[in-house]
Amino acid sequence: MHDEHEWDVSTIAIRTGHQRTAESEHSEPIYPTSSFVFDTAAEAAARFSGDMPGNVYSRFTNPTVKTFEARLAAMEGGDSCVATASGMAAILATCMGLLEQGDHIVSSRAIFGSTVMLFNKYLSRFGITTSYAELSDLDSWKDAITPETRMLFLETPSNPLTEVGDIEALAQLAHDNDAILVVDNCFCTPVVQQPLKLGADIVVHSATKYIDGQGRCVGGAVVGDSKRVGEEVFGVLRTGGPAMSPFNAWVFLKGLETLELRMQRHCDNAASLATWLEQQDAVEEVYFPGLESHRQFALIQKQQRMPGGIVSFILKGGREKAWQLIDSVTLMSITANLGDTKSTITHPATTTHARLTPEEKEAAGIAEGLVRISVGLENVDDLLADLERAFSGL
Ligand SMILES: *Cc1c(COP(=O)(O)O)cnc(C)c1O
Repeated sequence: MHDEHEWDVSTIAIRTGHQRTAESEHSEPIYPTSSFVFDTAAEAAARFSGDMPGNVYSRFTNPTVKTFEARLAAMEGGDSCVATASGMAAILATCMGLLEQGDHIVSSRAIFGSTVMLFNKYLSRFGITTSYAELSDLDSWKDAITPETRMLFLETPSNPLTEVGDIEALAQLAHDNDAILVVDNCFCTPVVQQPLKLGADIVVHSATKYIDGQGRCVGGAVVGDSKRVGEEVFGVLRTGGPAMSPFNAWVFLKGLETLELRMQRHCDNAASLATWLEQQDAVEEVYFPGLESHRQFALIQKQQRMPGGIVSFILKGGREKAWQLIDSVTLMSITANLGDTKSTITHPATTTHARLTPEEKEAAGIAEGLVRISVGLENVDDLLADLERAFSGL
């Protein structure tokens, strides 16, 4: 007999969650059905009330979605997972399920733009307020906490400067203040970092990025304990409805099977590019968690299994040089998306971070010469040749 608790995350990603049907299929089936039938009126009543486990309606019970949820929960080391229509739906459902009017969130400053919008514009309408802290400065988190703080929220490493938050220390801080720690683990995925094992209470994902990893579907997930996620967040999904489709769940399920292999290649390619970039005279600074020059290298070694696939760097010469470089590469795609097989290159100051004022950009380190690459799975020599050619023309 095998013991699933002993398995490495790469084995869990391939072997967990699927309960083979009477058809003896090897690969996980897709169930494109909105509803399910019952043998008797009494069984229908029991399934609706929850007294009898089983499928009811695909807004909240679909076998393909459940297989994805079981697999991702096991990979993160959580008891429960709820799949959602998008990464933003995962964050929305987490806040709606676990917070109420009057509650306060402390979030790291460098988070996904739509998350800032959700906190500042929408949650505030319902009496939930948010303050921002500096990700790597524990004192700034302590200073931001009020008696109403019920949630600490962060992304680590940050985008695009790959700053890192100490998950273990922040989980302790949250718990000392009767709050929970929520980690957006989209940049790492569970094969790189497992926040729940470091003390975090909830992990949220945009499956759109590395979990799919091939730029096909939009989806998300919330992972945690069976009370908070299995009941509270699930309740929001069941009632509010931002559910994942069975087809998308199947795509993500197959994505999980190759996730470790893909992350390994993303990270290896990124490390080669970062090392090369550090040697270029035209480059002022390189940000990559795999470089020994990263000022938080010790924490990264403790908390991540791999460095991740995002490399950012500042070119001397500001926006003009940055745009010139971006326009000169031919293999990489100019797009702000990330976590794809295809390498993408972007200028944060005029795209993902364009809404910030010049002062805010300065404070956040979003220089005009900053370029971000989400390193894909192409051959590393081809990627380096693309960069070399573009650099030689600067
Ligand atoms: C993309 C992203 C999200 C939002 O996910 P969607 O699937 O686009 O809704 C949230 N957090 C991070 C870190 C992201 O990169």
